[in-house]
Amino acid sequence: MHDHRKLGRFGTDPLIGAGLPYWLPDGAIVRHSLEEYVRDLERRAGYRHVHSPVLGKRELYEISGHWSLYRDDMYPPMDVGGEQLVLRPSLCPHHALIYRSSGRSYRELPLRIAEVGGMYRAELSGALGGLSRVRAIQLNDAHVFCTLDQVEAEAAAALALIRRAYDALRISPARFRLSLPGPGGKYVPGNWDRAVAILRSVLDGLPYDAVEGEAAFYGPKIDVQIADGAGRESTLSTVQVDFHQPEQFGLEYVGADGAKHRPVMVHRSIIGSVERAVAQLIEVHGGAFPAWLAPVQLRLLPVSAAELPYAREVLDRCGDVRAEIASEGSLGARIRDGRLVPFQAVLGPQEAAAGQLSVRLRDGHRLDAQPAEDALASIREAIRPPSPRPASRRQEPGFPVPPSR
Ligand SMILES: [Zn+2]
Repeated sequence: MHDHRKLGRFGTDPLIGAGLPYWLPDGAIVRHSLEEYVRDLERRAGYRHVHSPVLGKRELYEISGHWSLYRDDMYPPMDVGGEQLVLRPSLCPHHALIYRSSGRSYRELPLRIAEVGGMYRAELSGALGGLSRVRAIQLNDAHVFCTLDQVEAEAAAALALIRRAYDALRISPARFRLSLPGPGGKYVPGNWDRAVAILRSVLDGLPYDAVEGEAAFYGPKIDVQIADGAGRESTLSTVQVDFHQPEQFGLEYVGADGAKHRPVMVHRSIIGSVERAVAQLIEVHGGAFPAWLAPVQLRLLPVSAAELPYAREVLDRCGDVRAEIASEGSLGARIRDGRLVPFQAVLGPQEAAAGQLSVRLRDGHRLDAQPAEDALASIREAIRPPSPRPASRRQEPGFPVPPSR
């Protein structure tokens, strides 16, 4: 594993503040590719995306319970014209209000609302580190509003989606944790036993540890734990069962019997915070990302200035392949500089004359020269994000995909 802070994809500035990293272009590409992948995965799994603001009135968090039980992790309210506005510590209350914005029937359930959205945590500066622990978080979040009968299947489907994404990203959980309430913690009263029983049954057949004191204040959760290069564990993904917030927000649906019922909320995050997910990806892959996530996917290396016009011509035909020309320095040095890039093509007089590309993979493997259009078509295949089908049954594209370390 590698320390993600040393790869130069993001930075910090004392004037912006600790725990508030900015993303450089290469890092931003990885982040956006990851967000697009997750949204696509969610769309195909029946989620509908929404967008909601990062601020809310203090009353919103009084209702949700955050104000009384979670205030230590929140930023102080801002006074604006006599109103108190708060940077949100989670997306749940906004999503509960989106659910409540129209009358709901049992026919609409399960209703799966997803958003990759901002939230804020008032971490103490001593606890901050790189991208793994930040104060401004972009969370891949979703809330499934469903009937009591549907909760277990929805929670199980969410866990399956998490495992599928880990396969695609080639990251592995350090362990599954069932996070329970513990002595001395702040929790809402309610039907905890039932929620715990549901999550236990979702975890049935998987190795997991039950740990007291790690639950959310409103309910127990399944945490998917990851470890960084130094072996420190943190939570990336979660599935939570919540009877509390539907009650607090008075959420309802009309059942088949014509009467009003209370839905249950399943909170779930596939890749957790985008910041932490990218930190983990950098550490696991040492910057040699799967081709679909790589900031630069193809580097063109003209042997001399004579091949530069040909390199420009190929670059123009790259389309959605993220490509660049590297023409400064010795060829050997340029190849070494591009060792994290999935595909490199050396363009010599022969290739230029024949309109060909000789593609070199990250592991040093060199393919035979082939017409540039054919090589680009194979690269396009190889950089496609993973199919939404489970990775084990996925047909690899015809072009050899470079192994990642
Ligand atoms: Zn939530």
